[in-house]
Amino acid sequence: MPRIVLALNAGSSSLKFSATTVGEEGQSSLLLKGEIEDIGSAPHFVLKNAQGAILAERRWTDSETSMQPLLEEVAVRVREHLTGDELTAIGHRVVHGGPDHMAPERVTPALIASLEKLTPIAPLHIPHNLALIRSMMKLCPDVPQVACFDTAFHRTMPAVARRFALPAVYEAAGVRRYGFHGLSYEYIARKLESIAPHLAKGRVIVAHLGNGASLCALQAGRSLDTTMGFSPLDGLVMGTRCGALDPAIVLYLENQFGLSVDEVRHLLYRESGLLALSGGVANDMRTLLASAEPKAREAVEIFVHVLARQAGGLIASLQGLDGFVFTAGIGEHASEIRAMVCEKLAWLGVKIDPQANLRHADIISTPDSEVEVWVIPTDEDAMIVRHTLAVLGDGRARAL
Ligand code: ADP
Repeated sequence: MPRIVLALNAGSSSLKFSATTVGEEGQSSLLLKGEIEDIGSAPHFVLKNAQGAILAERRWTDSETSMQPLLEEVAVRVREHLTGDELTAIGHRVVHGGPDHMAPERVTPALIASLEKLTPIAPLHIPHNLALIRSMMKLCPDVPQVACFDTAFHRTMPAVARRFALPAVYEAAGVRRYGFHGLSYEYIARKLESIAPHLAKGRVIVAHLGNGASLCALQAGRSLDTTMGFSPLDGLVMGTRCGALDPAIVLYLENQFGLSVDEVRHLLYRESGLLALSGGVANDMRTLLASAEPKAREAVEIFVHVLARQAGGLIASLQGLDGFVFTAGIGEHASEIRAMVCEKLAWLGVKIDPQANLRHADIISTPDSEVEVWVIPTDEDAMIVRHTLAVLGDGRARAL
């Protein structure tokens, strides 16, 4: 019997999902995919088939914004279009696993209780993931669920990369670098094994550049260092998140502007980054690149400057660089950003072929470049499906 796995990827105001069928030999194919956008304001649900044709769509009014009816719609519509086959398992991307969850785990009452205790460490993300897990338990009580932690891939980071220079009592309480986008980095590390085995064994920076953005230093396919830290707020400039910031700024904002903790959190997560730098033009890179506003250009230049500066730190951690991989929305589609980043890395001997870059070729570096530069589409859902089947003891996970 084929296995059908529903992968759920909850963002702060969106839920992306996909249903994949996995055959006896481990051959997998996408059946359905979809998204609910603008949760909390005016939710919009779309369900598509593997070719991208719209199968179902619904908009809610502002008043109907609680999670439960939205998820019911997902569960009902997905089942309706599975044409007789039943869901075998549900896999979740869980943003934070804290210090105790370093591998995917089956959802049990004990795991839920443990994640509840983690809420103070990740107040924006864990309640969201728990609400989703509980809702799916109600809607599909017989379908096992698996939590796949975005922090887990970074468990291989050495203590020197993990530790903040704070008293040990805080480290013991879980204040350390965790790193995020782990499912994406794991997918890229595995992909390199098949398409570029020489790089899979080497020193590679992967740039996951989406609305959230980070860099990961891979040494022989394992995470050695990364730009995100205790939370997904650290590191690069993002759509609405500030990235690395002098911590004294937070104290100053509280003292001099009288901002509360909640106000500072809102400022740093929702009102900063590209949106703030562009003077409100957009948090979206495509819009910024198309804009004639000088501030939009400035935002793009700062994004690239910070990225190159942080890449420099990771290159020192790796003690050199063999490959650089661009992935996620900006990394896969914005040739102009790739060109700007590579120009900043020219001191390393990075050279790209402008034509290959414009057509988003797999390899965009020239043959004489000191560093190979790749564009590899990421697939976090593929990792969720693999982990979900593996945790449930299904041998076909190995073939995925
Ligand atoms: P998320 O973190 O929500 O998964 P994505 O990986 O989808 O985000 O990336 C979203 C970002 O990718 C946005 O800033 C968007 O503008 C950018 N992007 C997508 N397509 C393009 C494009 N063709 N050119 C420039 N930027 C693009």
